[in-house]
Amino acid sequence: MPKYSKSHYDITPLSAEKVAELAKKLDEESYRVTQKAGTEPPFCGNLLDNKKDGFYACIVCGLPLFSSEHKFKSGTGWPSFYREFDPEHVARKVDKSHGMVRTEILCARCGAHLGHVFEDGPPPTGERHCLNSAALRFYEKGAPLPPESRPAQLETAYFAGGCFWGVEHYFQKGPGVIDAVSGYMQGDVENPTYKQVCYENTGHAETVKVVFDPQRITYRQLLEAFFKMHDPTQLNRQGPDVGEQYRSGIWYTSPEQKKEAEAYIAELTERKAFPGKIVTQVEPAKTFWPAEDYHQDYIAKTGRACHVSNPWVK
Ligand SMILES: [Zn+2]
Repeated sequence: MPKYSKSHYDITPLSAEKVAELAKKLDEESYRVTQKAGTEPPFCGNLLDNKKDGFYACIVCGLPLFSSEHKFKSGTGWPSFYREFDPEHVARKVDKSHGMVRTEILCARCGAHLGHVFEDGPPPTGERHCLNSAALRFYEKGAPLPPESRPAQLETAYFAGGCFWGVEHYFQKGPGVIDAVSGYMQGDVENPTYKQVCYENTGHAETVKVVFDPQRITYRQLLEAFFKMHDPTQLNRQGPDVGEQYRSGIWYTSPEQKKEAEAYIAELTERKAFPGKIVTQVEPAKTFWPAEDYHQDYIAKTGRACHVSNPWVK
């Protein structure tokens, strides 16, 4: 299952084979430090006195690990930072080697040894991440970045398929989906409540916002899942839920999405995938209004069963 950090980097752990392949390209010192948990001699690393603006990436896999804005002069002889670029990018492990108990820090994506973290750093964290220069590659602000050091280029899609609880639940499980959020769309009232949408004909449809990484999952795959999760031939209802807010809809965010959605509906119609006419609306996305907190992750939180079936099982 792909994993993404809050700052939107792909942090899915790399396989041992992939790490071995990347490690082959390292020079001797970087190999010793990152793969054998080595330590470089103090005051020798090339990044100790680097004061340029930018970030420090893992020398093995390229994941950004530390930022120049958190670097400080510790006087220890090793590059020091008081916090990580993103806490999810740096893993911690108890290290009892050399007769000491220390906390080792590693790259969360490839497992490269980076150094140790100590609790004698400056405010606001009080931490000192003590790094080996040989484990890092510095990218100055504005420098061109290789793909492995860039955040995922995310896309957003919107689907209305009846009650959003189940649709959100299963979109969230899509491999390459970063986030699925329940909300209301395509209506006339700003910031509507669930009650308004249900009883006041605001014109909104219960909609799930899907943020995804097109490198991992395509819009087409999301469309396929969407049509497995609901019945697109029911007008303004899904099963027991009746009303305009339960209508079937695809709210596109780009001309490409519009084209793909229409083509897929034409394809389903052509091969008579459903017994009736597909009434799914395809419209440009208007403002998405997130639903109240208690609607988010409803199935996961309540353990309720749901009429929507899992679209990801083959
Ligand atoms: Zn790494």
